[in-house]
Amino acid sequence: MQYEMGEYDIIVVGAGHAGCEAGLAAARMGKRTLVLSMQLEAIALMACNPSIGGTGKGHLVREIDALGGQMGLAIDSSVIQSKMLNSSKGPAVQSLRTQADKPTYQMAMKQALERQKNLDLKQGEVSGLIGEVFPSSGEPSEMSNYGIRVTGVILTTGASYRAKAVVLATGTFLRSRIFIGENNFSSGPNGLAPALELTDCLQEWGLKMRRFKTGTPARIAGRSLNYDKMIEQPGDSRIVPFSFMNEELEKKQVSCWLTYTNETTHQVIRDNLQRSALFGGQIEGVGPRYCPSIEDKVHRFADKEKHQIFIEPEGLNTDEKYIQGMSTSLPEDVQVQFYQTIAGLENAEIVRPAYAIEYDCIDPLDLKLNLEHQKIAGLFCAGQINGSSGYEEAAAQGLMAGANAVLAIEGKEPFVLDRSEAYIGVLIDDLVTKGTDEPYRIMTSRAEYRLSLRQDNADLRLTEKAWEIGLISEERRHKFLKRREQTETERLRLENTMLKPDQINPFLAALEEAPVHTKISLAGLLKRAAVTYENLASIDPDRPDLSVHVIKTVEVDIKYQGYIEKQEQQIRRFKKLEERKIPEEIDYTNLSGLRIEAQQKLQHIRPASIGQASRISGVSPADINVLLVHLEQRRRQKNG
Ligand SMILES: Cc1cc2nc3c(=O)[nH]c(=O)nc-3n(C[C@H](O)[C@H](O)[C@H](O)COP(=O)(O)OP(=O)(O)OC[C@H]3O[C@@H](n4cnc5c(N)ncnc54)[C@H](O)[C@@H]3O)c2cc1C
Repeated sequence: MQYEMGEYDIIVVGAGHAGCEAGLAAARMGKRTLVLSMQLEAIALMACNPSIGGTGKGHLVREIDALGGQMGLAIDSSVIQSKMLNSSKGPAVQSLRTQADKPTYQMAMKQALERQKNLDLKQGEVSGLIGEVFPSSGEPSEMSNYGIRVTGVILTTGASYRAKAVVLATGTFLRSRIFIGENNFSSGPNGLAPALELTDCLQEWGLKMRRFKTGTPARIAGRSLNYDKMIEQPGDSRIVPFSFMNEELEKKQVSCWLTYTNETTHQVIRDNLQRSALFGGQIEGVGPRYCPSIEDKVHRFADKEKHQIFIEPEGLNTDEKYIQGMSTSLPEDVQVQFYQTIAGLENAEIVRPAYAIEYDCIDPLDLKLNLEHQKIAGLFCAGQINGSSGYEEAAAQGLMAGANAVLAIEGKEPFVLDRSEAYIGVLIDDLVTKGTDEPYRIMTSRAEYRLSLRQDNADLRLTEKAWEIGLISEERRHKFLKRREQTETERLRLENTMLKPDQINPFLAALEEAPVHTKISLAGLLKRAAVTYENLASIDPDRPDLSVHVIKTVEVDIKYQGYIEKQEQQIRRFKKLEERKIPEEIDYTNLSGLRIEAQQKLQHIRPASIGQASRISGVSPADINVLLVHLEQRRRQKNG
């Protein structure tokens, strides 16, 4: 029995990291939005590690914030430890990583949804989609010329809601199964209910579903740990905010702890490999290469004597500890055995066993760069369902899918960020152009233009674009304009403030730097390796009081000016190919000169530009030339 319950502009299925950002983006752009989640307690659940950020992921969080998203604000309100990773390395790979108080993070996200104008949050499981067939192009008699448009959702309760667009952000819940040793059972993460019905409907609608898996370590009672046998890992003395809306964060920080596996740990694991769901062959899903289980590590890196283990707090008001680096699908009795071989865990008490989870996801090659499905108008997908892994990756896709669902129903140009503009652009282009055969996680090494895509300048790259499509508030725009102006003013001040050698050389001598013999600007001095914006203060007393965000950008822009200018030249060349658009209706099967493999790949992925086409595996430079010639012929015919 079905019954209509209401109509919205946008419906978001799932309130995980992707769903929250999608719903907020659509509502903030003024659309009536419904966010549905199977359990309101599971909003923005951090099902795995209690941290936000890290290499590449920290960049995504800053970009989400610069685009008016919520993740940066939520983590700033729940941070219990902050560390700048790779601080001794170049600015392109420096990444903020923070530990979160999980319940506080979830609450902050739930409050943001509940307080958001135009947004309704409801509990309910979506079991199916509602849609209509509409004529796309060519002869009405040809079925292939008909498309499908999604027009709403049905819930397991029989309730249905209509909408002009739907965003699927179902994460690790679709037909999810938990694996612990020889046993497996139908369940979502943390013992939550799985979504058992939606996959069938998606398959009926022609979506190709795949099986992926991921795993999480046990949670151990802190009182059962012996920290004397571990190495304390405190946070940085100063917490750097993730959100550009925050200047300073005064918060009590807690430590993580470092310990290692040893040969005894490895032997216990080797002796029981066959009881691992992964090695025992029970699991068919493909797991993440960059988050391997401990049995995978012991097996693959047999020569390694020890593996690092970090003990991370799950929160301030819980004694549960997350054992980073020890996810496994070995049975519980073996888990107790090998955890207790580790220094400091000799009396470890497991409060939640480690497990692997298998779930359904789609093939992201079936999506366009705006995350809309190629064949189903109005259906957008975001997060783990697209084959990615990680809170940050999910949130970034959610924001983009939510914004693009709005632009699509308004008939406006899609909002697409390319690889030279944002890590979000790299993430989405990798997924929808190259695809992925395992859970995809972002890394700085995936970004060609990473010196330009630093976490400190995310707002300078993106906030104005977000303003143009209505994603950000006046308050954030105002703050951004002030920050941009301060950054420019300070850069000019440093470039135009000239000092004489006698004013500088004692300072340089103290840094064991070579003296200068002529006047030099403060910016000129800052280019020296040993000179920092901070230590320059001793010879620059009249400087303005600026935020960490402004100082960081000014310092990097000046120090790496030459490299940045070189990269900007590369980006100009890259953009030339990105701007060579390919008409949507092109039929590659009729393009003689293209190799069969290229025809098939291009016909499936339907790239938006020559640049995107050139990144498709199996499309050669010769194929690209054929395409360029064809486009030129079309242009001439059109211009007669
Ligand atoms: C066991 C485990 C281990 C993990 N390990 C790692 C790791 O090591 N590294 C890493 O980077 N990431 C890891 N993750 C992944 C990380 O949790 C996810 O990447 C992230 O949560 C994905 O966010 P999402 O929004 O796509 O989905 P989720 O956070 O899973 O949220 C999905 C939401 O959709 C809702 N939902 C689903 N189906 C329906 C439906 N039919 N109707 C209504 N609501 C629905 C759910 O209730 C939930 O609110 C792990 C996750 C799990 C579960």
